[in-house]
Amino acid sequence: MEQEKPTIEGPDPATTLAQAAGLAEHLQRIGVQWLPTADAQSAQALATQFHVADEVAPPPQVENTAPSQASPPASAPADVASPTATPAIATPPAAAPSPPTAAPAFAFALQSDTAAASEPYAGPPLAADARAVQLAAFAETVAACTRCEILSKCRTKTVFGEGNVTPRIVFFGEGPGREEDLSGRPFVGKAGQLLTKMIQACKFAREDVYIMNTVKCRPPNNRNPEPTEIENCREYFQAQFQILRPEYIVCLGLVSAQALLQTKLSVGRLRGKFHSYFDSKVLVTYHPSYLLRNPAAKKAAWEDLQLMLRDAGLM
Ligand code: SF4
Repeated sequence: MEQEKPTIEGPDPATTLAQAAGLAEHLQRIGVQWLPTADAQSAQALATQFHVADEVAPPPQVENTAPSQASPPASAPADVASPTATPAIATPPAAAPSPPTAAPAFAFALQSDTAAASEPYAGPPLAADARAVQLAAFAETVAACTRCEILSKCRTKTVFGEGNVTPRIVFFGEGPGREEDLSGRPFVGKAGQLLTKMIQACKFAREDVYIMNTVKCRPPNNRNPEPTEIENCREYFQAQFQILRPEYIVCLGLVSAQALLQTKLSVGRLRGKFHSYFDSKVLVTYHPSYLLRNPAAKKAAWEDLQLMLRDAGLM
């Protein structure tokens, strides 16, 4: 008598395909160089998958040159500043403050983010070691910044940001508080402890994600940063995102959400759905400091994170 064959259950093909596509996208974002050894047709298919069909441009070299000397990547979209433009940095909005006291030493053309929704980040992503080198050099530039007269005089240390340089997720806060100002690290006070718990609830460690703020210097008495101070610091967070190009950006609170999305809408209006910053998906939720003052809002914040986790195939 023929025995009944056991049924082996596994993910359905559509799920497997979606997960494979997600992995391929993540590998591309973190700068993994894919070296196909199969036949030419397969190699072409892989190259197309990774959007490098015609040429694989080398990652930009770290140079201590002025922005106007940096060449944009070959595949840069039309809105990237020309290398002959002066400087090759995003033009500040009309309400921008007085000119910066020192131009940052960007080794690449910074994309304008005034019409950033859904546009891909320019050029090929950098490999992890190149990202670390660029971010470290960049942090030194920020440490010497005096664009904001009040903030640069009040600060003890600038707080650039820290974490995985090839992150799936960047948590984007408002600005340093007292503990952060003293330590030079983001989110290390009570709000930071809550953020760490939120990250762990997502089954990540702090080291798996990148954490940074909108302004890099502590506003006195923990006041909100002024619009002019946010605009002064915009180039810095823009450049960080351009290097990191995460799949998800979680804006923590009103200041970071309004700065990144260039909107006046409230957190209540912005949360519960994805927005775009280039091709990163942006989620808006409550700042951990707000959650400490209003514990009832933690449920809503967890719902926001679950939205991201489901989208990322992590739950
Ligand atoms: S907040 Fe940003 S722009 Fe202002 S002084 Fe600090 S680093 Fe410079």
